[in-house]
Amino acid sequence: MGLTTQPIITRFAPSPTGPLHLGHAMAAIYAFDMAREHGADGRFLLRMEDIDTARTRPEFEQAILTDLEWLGLEWETTVRRQSEHMADYQAAIDRLNEMGLLYPCFCTRAEIMAEIESSPSAPHLKTETHGPDGPLYPGTCLKLGEDLAKEKMAAQVPYALRLNMQKALSMVDGPLMWTDTIKGKIKATPEIFQDVVLARKDVPTSYHLAVSVDDHLQGVNMVTRGEDLFSATHVHRLIQALLRLDVPSYSHHGLVTDNNGLRLAKRDKATTLKTLRESGYTPTDIRNMVGLKTRG
Ligand code: GLU
Repeated sequence: MGLTTQPIITRFAPSPTGPLHLGHAMAAIYAFDMAREHGADGRFLLRMEDIDTARTRPEFEQAILTDLEWLGLEWETTVRRQSEHMADYQAAIDRLNEMGLLYPCFCTRAEIMAEIESSPSAPHLKTETHGPDGPLYPGTCLKLGEDLAKEKMAAQVPYALRLNMQKALSMVDGPLMWTDTIKGKIKATPEIFQDVVLARKDVPTSYHLAVSVDDHLQGVNMVTRGEDLFSATHVHRLIQALLRLDVPSYSHHGLVTDNNGLRLAKRDKATTLKTLRESGYTPTDIRNMVGLKTRG
């Protein structure tokens, strides 16, 4: 990217469900540097992705702030906590519902697996039965019919809301594209997710919906994140088109790997920033370890 007319606005969006490790440090530093590299107007935001209320803990949020401060990153004082903005996600769900694009799904994970396994074509379609989030939904509740769905709702059977992918795709004009600073111009193929869940049974939103709405509302124009989330952008691009949200640019960066080239797991205690800090590593060491040296 050369000189831009717009200041770059990036964000780091961790989930406060555990300690930060080297992989997070890479994502945070990458986003921070990207905002700084594009002049004094660049902005770096922090967002807590805390919709998973069962796993979120205030002490993890505090630890994240401590780690980021130690790394020498500065973010804008207003930290967006997703749990405080459920009304924004509800408005998006309502809009998609009005468009006739959502349907309730009462299936449990076990029922979905049983349905997939009992399908006569399943053994031959092994790869085609899997999407980026796991086994593809076989569409059971799409065929349920309104009366039966209402009956189940009245009986308080828990349900998620799924996007009717085929219908959603028929409502967008032309190919959906996005620009990736590393991978170039990409054509979105959200159908790889098929009828993805947009509101979970336990929380009335999902990662895909909340991220798309937040990036728009926060004015993020450069989404930086690890390439493990590359496939998620296909569905985010569709949500943007359906809800007429701004389309940011993307930068899906490489992941931190160990000496054997394997991706570091979150559970790998040796690489939490707290452990590294307490073992005497400096923020400069961390930058070197994730391959993002200080410039200039
Ligand atoms: N909350 C996600 C994570 O911790 C990142 C979200 C995103 O960058 O889109 O992996």
